[in-house]
Amino acid sequence: MSSQPKIHLDRVAKTYPGSRIPAVDELTLDVQEGEILVLVGPSGCGKSTTLRLINRMIEPSSGRIMLDGEDVTKANPDKLRRRIGYVIQQIGLFPHQTISQNIATVPKMLGWEKDRIHERTEQLLTTVGLDPEQYRDRYPKELSGGQAQRVGVARALGADPDIMLMDEPFGAIDPITRERLQNEFLRLQEELRKTIVFVTHDIDEAIKMGDRIAILGERSTIRQIDTPERILAYPVDDFVDDFIGTGSTIKGLNFQQVSGLKIPDYPAISVSDDPQKGIAALQEAGREWLVLLDDQGRPVRWLREDDLRGAAPGQYDGRGEELGDHLSPDDTLFHALELMVQSAAGKTCVVDEAGRFQGVVEMAHLNKAIRRAQYEARAHYEELERA
Ligand code: ADP
Repeated sequence: MSSQPKIHLDRVAKTYPGSRIPAVDELTLDVQEGEILVLVGPSGCGKSTTLRLINRMIEPSSGRIMLDGEDVTKANPDKLRRRIGYVIQQIGLFPHQTISQNIATVPKMLGWEKDRIHERTEQLLTTVGLDPEQYRDRYPKELSGGQAQRVGVARALGADPDIMLMDEPFGAIDPITRERLQNEFLRLQEELRKTIVFVTHDIDEAIKMGDRIAILGERSTIRQIDTPERILAYPVDDFVDDFIGTGSTIKGLNFQQVSGLKIPDYPAISVSDDPQKGIAALQEAGREWLVLLDDQGRPVRWLREDDLRGAAPGQYDGRGEELGDHLSPDDTLFHALELMVQSAAGKTCVVDEAGRFQGVVEMAHLNKAIRRAQYEARAHYEELERA
């Protein structure tokens, strides 16, 4: 993380006219360059207001807004908004303008040359996965919800702003398209490395999209701000715990990889081995299941002692149970859990790139990994408290 935050809110507050309670109450918040910070919290807690304070679509009642260390609280708001892309849920495309014209909005305001604008809109259409030939001259009503949302993202990227504000950008879209757009956007962000503040009320979307998540309570007060991994491992209070909901421990398995586990040796024999060798290995290890490997060292079946009795070297066909899918070292522990609960043996094999047997992942390994993550997160917070 860079030392100077890209965005710094310094005790920013907003009380709407006619209201006695602030919608945002003295919020201090840093957003680092190149990160996606997700603001998540219950409806009405002040997420959208906070987002709009950043580009001064809403003027703060008090406090300061700094971009790149520069106080923009009193800067010209039009100029400010041209530096900042903004994407909203219902897209807000101009219905009587073509897709190209919509995308060209900010470059045009900035007085770019025609050729440069054309080049930019064509490039942006391609970037968000829309063929310019097919889409440049269409009108917004001729697009599906997902396509319109892509145009919304392209328009926000128009003048290549280094900050993007996104307010429930994928909220109004069916779950399948939504997941696709989320994935596309994360891929795009790998290249673009924009500084993004992303608002959602959906904790799963927050976990997926955020490098960090700020869980907000009423009046936009920060209840916890951290990586999704640490929030899942160590919610600081009941509010956060309730908000992240059931299954948070299991969701945390998405942030750990198989390669991070220390897995001990596991009994295995080759098809050419004598079954007696397998029986001895099982008894010595005190195990129920062993792994049968083919002559290339690739796992093929689970075998129990009973499956080995009466078998002969090279003749294990149909004995024991199928293995199901294997894990590779870069798979997540969430995926490991999924394979494990499907497996007859309740555990699952890890293989290398050539498919050769590396070891077996069991429930106890996941249990340990979860407990370690919880321990480390708690230690981190204790450290913060001491500092
Ligand atoms: P969220 O995005 O978390 O749902 P909002 O920022 O939209 O929350 O709203 C925060 C609070 O401010 C709510 O109580 C809402 O009713 C109030 N509010 C939002 N916009 C306005 C407005 N334009 N005028 C008056 N009150 C508003």
